[in-house]
Amino acid sequence: MIATVDDDACAGHGVCVALCPEVFTLTDDGYAQAVGTEVPAQFHEVVTEAAASCPERAIHLKEES
Ligand code: SF4
Repeated sequence: MIATVDDDACAGHGVCVALCPEVFTLTDDGYAQAVGTEVPAQFHEVVTEAAASCPERAIHLKEES
């Protein structure tokens, strides 16, 4: 699974960071970014929850084929 944050959509609420700080961080500008590229398997469920919980729908998930 690859998680990305749409910079234009993110409003910096930090919901994703609160749910899964292992994958999401806030930049100095106050917006989220996903760390690394591949989301470790143990975080798939919480990252999916973070994407569903993002008020701006700024988190996009891509399953690898
Ligand atoms: S929850 Fe969504 S809007 Fe809030 S910081 Fe994370 S990606 Fe940005």
